[in-house]
Amino acid sequence: MDINKIWDDTLSLIEAEVTNVAYNTWFLAMTPVSLTDKNIMLEANDDFVKRTIDAKYLNLIQNALLQVTHQKLNIITYVKGKKPEIEPAEEKSLASEVNDRGTRDRNGLTKKYRFENFVVGGSNKLAYSAAVAVSEMPGDAYNPLFLYGGVGLGKTHLMNAIGNEALENTKDLKIAYLSCETFMNQLIESIGKNKTAEFRSKYRELDFLLIDDIQFISEKTQTQEEFFHTFNELLLNNKQIVISSDRPPSEIKHLADRLVSRFQAGLVVDLKLPDFETRTAILQSKAKSLNYDVPNDVIQYIAQNIKSNIRELEGVLNRVIFYSKIYPGSITIEMAENAIEDIIKMNKPKITVEYIQEIVAAFYEVTTDDLKSKTKTKKLATARQAAMYLCRKMLDINYKEIGKKFGNKDHSTVISACNKIERLLNEDEDTKNTLLNLEKKINDQ
Ligand code: ADP
Ligand code: MG
Repeated sequence: MDINKIWDDTLSLIEAEVTNVAYNTWFLAMTPVSLTDKNIMLEANDDFVKRTIDAKYLNLIQNALLQVTHQKLNIITYVKGKKPEIEPAEEKSLASEVNDRGTRDRNGLTKKYRFENFVVGGSNKLAYSAAVAVSEMPGDAYNPLFLYGGVGLGKTHLMNAIGNEALENTKDLKIAYLSCETFMNQLIESIGKNKTAEFRSKYRELDFLLIDDIQFISEKTQTQEEFFHTFNELLLNNKQIVISSDRPPSEIKHLADRLVSRFQAGLVVDLKLPDFETRTAILQSKAKSLNYDVPNDVIQYIAQNIKSNIRELEGVLNRVIFYSKIYPGSITIEMAENAIEDIIKMNKPKITVEYIQEIVAAFYEVTTDDLKSKTKTKKLATARQAAMYLCRKMLDINYKEIGKKFGNKDHSTVISACNKIERLLNEDEDTKNTLLNLEKKINDQ
């Protein structure tokens, strides 16, 4: 197939997924250059475009390309005029490196996350001190160290900083950083290939293990079992373990008690929402590292308006800097306003049937499987009808598709559910309030 045609088709898929601004500024600034059965090479108009695409959109591009070409292609990006010379044999490894933003080591660590560029404030001081202690005295300070906190508050950054620092102190340290999902996938793969012994020894021989986002282990009994043994083996030998999670051990659902108590046995420390001063300091440090002079009032405006997530804070700053490139002149509050709007829109996850089912199920205290079942207790029937009605109302999806997503029910079942709710909305104040409430919850995700 013709590369230009492929890229055009890919772009039209992407256009539906991102904001107009993002589409025009990032994707239209990329030109396809070459295509093999493994790689596609894309030329970026400038360094900023390349960096943004690399940092945020490689997965999106790869998925869109997958739909168009039915092939998982590596994406190689470069800045106009700096086309890399690649030997065919090297091509593949280089591409996967680029996909990993070129910064991840073999041990999984991302080099750019360091203690030196981690801004310390009241919200993360304890976590930071514990992290430093662990990196200086692996196995001796706190073991395991369990870090928890909401999305974008610095867990991954801190874990990588620990690993990078520990490695600097002891060059031949056997260390691995990985997400819980990767751990699980490797385990599954090893089972499939009859190589569990190798999997085990690989992790049990480490000096230092960092596992990110352990909450994914919830309900995965076999992974829990395997992790439990790895964990014990390492602790027994005084090897350091660091774990992160979006919640404390006791709140991870369906986590075996023995793991909960293991996790709590060392130090459990949380990363809180940063206060205004810390947010400001993070923005200042980030602007400085990018070599941009961002006026204080703009920094403060951003810090005042983005409170819940440092990743978003960075996103807004990047965007402001970008605006200042397309609309030269000094960086203004108005730019910050636009940037905030864009980022909030972009980060808002799409509402899906599954999401509606989750919210409705939680509200009625049933499970999403219950909603898809055939059971017809009064509570369940009401919950199911409400969920179907909300899908029809809030999503662009027909009765038949809704039925499918509710355990393959007939479209006539969905129609009568919707009719029933509509009737109740007129007759019954309680139903009306409940549904308004649910709709609001779904929109506020
Ligand atoms: P989490 O893993 O908790 O979701 P991350 O560690 O990925 O969050 O952090 C999100 C982004 O915010 C990263 O780019 C990280 O470098 C940055 N960040 C988080 N906390 C700080 C901090 N205290 N100082 C500087 N940057 C930070
Ligand atoms: Mg993380």
